[in-house]
Amino acid sequence: MTKRFVGDEHGVVKGLEIVRVHWEKDAIGKFSFKEVEGSEEITEADLVLLAMGFLGPESPLPEKLGLERDNRSNLKAEYGRFSTNVEGIFAAGDCRCGQSLVVWAISEGRQAAAQVDNYLMKDENDVTISTERHESTKTQDSNRQAVMM
Ligand SMILES: Cc1cc2nc3c(=O)[nH]c(=O)nc-3n(C[C@H](O)[C@H](O)[C@H](O)COP(=O)(O)OP(=O)(O)OC[C@H]3O[C@@H](n4cnc5c(N)ncnc54)[C@H](O)[C@@H]3O)c2cc1C
Repeated sequence: MTKRFVGDEHGVVKGLEIVRVHWEKDAIGKFSFKEVEGSEEITEADLVLLAMGFLGPESPLPEKLGLERDNRSNLKAEYGRFSTNVEGIFAAGDCRCGQSLVVWAISEGRQAAAQVDNYLMKDENDVTISTERHESTKTQDSNRQAVMM
């Protein structure tokens, strides 16, 4: 794992400080890595390409809202319903299913929006995966609010 870039006096990269890591499973089955103490070394480099992955949603907001996470640290929300453990909060896309594709994010976003609509219109039994607006005589419950993550 890279800890920092090492630059010369002109701010041009000349190396990377790296450290070995080992992966561990915690009590809830989530993998996380730990640095191997004393394994730091500097490796020379004159060009660095960033190949960045996705480690899951950042914690402050889910923690403040009391949202449950799965063992990969994503927000727990069933596909099709998209509702989290907190009433009125829905999750879709990468924060729900982990690193994925734009097409999935768009698809989930549209389906989750339909579920939010059902929730606001008090039709929670309808888990039809459809983004079409259907004719409805239902009225919105003004006490209900929804947040989409
Ligand atoms: C480097 C990289 C390359 C990729 N290349 C491809 C590709 O070639 N093809 C492909 O299909 N997919 C690719 N993906 C995946 C794709 O980008 C994601 O699957 C998609 O963007 C997920 O959409 P999303 O709406 O779920 O999340 P995001 O696009 O991550 O949107 C989440 C939004 O929430 C905002 N946000 C976060 N926290 C807060 C907060 N506390 N308050 C307010 N706003 C907040 C963020 O700023 C962001 O705008 C790539 C991803 C990465 C990281």
